[in-house]
Amino acid sequence: MNNDKISINEAGQLQVPDHVTLPFIIGDGIGPDIWHASVRVFDAAIAKAYQGKRKVNWKEVLAGEKAFNETGDWLPEETLSVFREYLVGIKGPLTTPIGGGIRSLNVALRKELDLYVCQRPTKWYEGVPSPVKHPEWVDMVVFRENTEDIYAGIEFAAGTAEAKRMQDFLKNDLAVDYNFSNTTGVGLKFVSEEGSKRLIRAAIEFALAENRKSVTLVHKGNIMKYTEGAFKNWGYQLAETEFKEQVYTWNQWEQTKAKLGQDAANVEQKAAEQAGKLIIKDMIADNFLQQILLAPRDFDIVATLNLNGDYISDALAAMVGGIGIAPGANINYKTGHAIFEATHGTAPRFANTDSMNPCSVILSGVMMFEYLGWTEAADAIVAAVAETIKEKTVTVDFYNLMDDATLLKTSEFANKIIEKL
Ligand code: NAD
Repeated sequence: MNNDKISINEAGQLQVPDHVTLPFIIGDGIGPDIWHASVRVFDAAIAKAYQGKRKVNWKEVLAGEKAFNETGDWLPEETLSVFREYLVGIKGPLTTPIGGGIRSLNVALRKELDLYVCQRPTKWYEGVPSPVKHPEWVDMVVFRENTEDIYAGIEFAAGTAEAKRMQDFLKNDLAVDYNFSNTTGVGLKFVSEEGSKRLIRAAIEFALAENRKSVTLVHKGNIMKYTEGAFKNWGYQLAETEFKEQVYTWNQWEQTKAKLGQDAANVEQKAAEQAGKLIIKDMIADNFLQQILLAPRDFDIVATLNLNGDYISDALAAMVGGIGIAPGANINYKTGHAIFEATHGTAPRFANTDSMNPCSVILSGVMMFEYLGWTEAADAIVAAVAETIKEKTVTVDFYNLMDDATLLKTSEFANKIIEKL
């Protein structure tokens, strides 16, 4: 029997064999440089932590330019079926093909495997150059809804028959009062109760498991009431029903304030905090983007819709050193399927220069090992990365912003990390 595959049991727990096969996509542009550096770090950390008891057999699958050049297909079916079968894998950045029917390979992968959570932690490592005064105050994990919203990409270009039909339908059948013209493009935004709730459920479960203080629902519900506003309402509803005993919500605070006044609401919230309850709150997206700069310590786990999450995770990444050090994961917590990936793109100008920062992929690997329960390897990598940066031996992105640093190539930076494992 082949026992190199991860499975998931009925209780939803991953079963990970000690000798596991994990598929990877090497990625386009800077992908190969940063993958080759990262995989050496992964193998060394596992060898050190488990002395041969545990091991990863890396299985390459094709996507992006490499797939197109070798097979004529940007995202071969074989790649999808391997990810389906092996459950967990990792990928480098992929070029977004221009024209040809595929909007984005990343979006296609997320959609095929229904990877509804895009999980992005942002945390500062000592010594990393930052544009803010207190980057150490940033320690958040963004849970971005990954399958819905305007990001579904259902759009009709200005001047097309489809755009005209959409406009006529809205005007004639739904009595929409809007000044359409044939230079107006149309895009649709979809947000469902199930889609919102499964994302927010994952964020709350994570917050409880990790003993975090709050989950903030970030939305633009003041303007988009039935999509973003509904996301917030469904979030509060879910929290107050499924997690009744473990949470206290700002919605409860509002209700108590309306009934008994603000002082009573404040007393209630204080008592909930003292009892160790998880606080569920919400914030409008524009205000949130200023509050993360002014008061980052007020935020912990963040649950938000797809497009907001895209902007928010890059803004947060910039506060703790930029996208060169920003990891991410796309996860379906029900089926167990997960693909870990750097947040950034292919940076094509720097392809094959052996100069870019591999931390984004290395820390995505850390998230993957944590997900598999291989925490000893994950912790060892984090400690070695932190020490390497603290010693100011870094790649060009950090070097340019640090005083008295030593410039290393991507491969040399990986060597340094391996020395410190
Ligand atoms: P990008 O993220 O590739 O690069 C923007 C800039 O960020 C680079 O010029 C570089 O200065 C910096 N940067 C990126 N990665 C870095 C690293 N590891 N270390 C140091 N600095 C780094 O964004 P782009 O130029 O807008 O996009 C290029 C291509 O990547 C496009 O085809 C885009 O569609 C694609 N893309 C893919 C993904 C993905 O695969 N997940 C994500 C975003 C963009």
